[in-house]
Amino acid sequence: MSLESTEPRSVLITGGNRGIGRAIAEEFVRRGDRVAITSRSGQEGPEGTLTVTADITDGDSLDAAVKQAEAEHGPIEVLVANAGMTDDQLLLRMSDESFEKVVDTNLTGSFRTVKRVIKSMMRKKKGRIVLISSVVAQLGSPGQVNYAASKAGLLGIARSITRELGSRGITANVVAPGYIATDMTDSLPEDLQKNYLSQIPAGRFAEPAEVARVTAFLASDDASYISGAVVPVDGGLGMGH
Ligand code: NDP
Repeated sequence: MSLESTEPRSVLITGGNRGIGRAIAEEFVRRGDRVAITSRSGQEGPEGTLTVTADITDGDSLDAAVKQAEAEHGPIEVLVANAGMTDDQLLLRMSDESFEKVVDTNLTGSFRTVKRVIKSMMRKKKGRIVLISSVVAQLGSPGQVNYAASKAGLLGIARSITRELGSRGITANVVAPGYIATDMTDSLPEDLQKNYLSQIPAGRFAEPAEVARVTAFLASDDASYISGAVVPVDGGLGMGH
């Protein structure tokens, strides 16, 4: 078996228009798969991908996006639920709305997407689900009660899918990135960025491509016996958690 896909598969990546999702899309294209990405804004994904518009907080828009991707590429065989957001605020100041919005996007949005592709995976008795969580799911983070809760919930989804559907050739895993250089982290204050950097054993932030390669591995035949796992890509930041 090789690291490259043996046969081109139909892959769907949410939030593939920028950041980590875009790098993941590029990696699957490089491996020869048929890749569709969702974009909320309509901003195109990388070369070689099909861009479908979807807001993952809206079930109807997801229905339409999955339908369009499947019409072009066939039933989804690999799902990467990557789209996500932050809305940081210390607990005392965090509103109910902020908590609900972040959970609705990161956690419920991933559930909505999984629900829309799982039937065809069950029919095929083959499927790969990779949920993009975060190191803070297990480490916690001040100002991120909403975000950490939403990302920790993804583990419950992956492990329950593994128990429900593991015998049907479907794997579900979680990737837990640390600090990756994207728009999401560029917007953090400089002193906070320096503070994070001082805690990372690798002594640097990661490139999105480093998350992409691990994600593609978990979706490959080489990872056929890995399910319900949390795979850190964090330069050692979350060690011991
Ligand atoms: P970016 O902010 O760069 O990109 C976020 C992506 O998610 C965009 O494509 C955005 O679409 C999409 N998105 C957000 N909300 C929605 C929505 N409601 N419906 C559809 N799409 C949506 O983030 P990153 O690339 O940095 O992060 C990607 C994932 O990795 C996220 O889940 C994030 O939590 C996680 N992560 C990131 C880390 C980092 O250090 N960067 C660390 C750990 C985890 P649009 O362009 O339309 O806004």
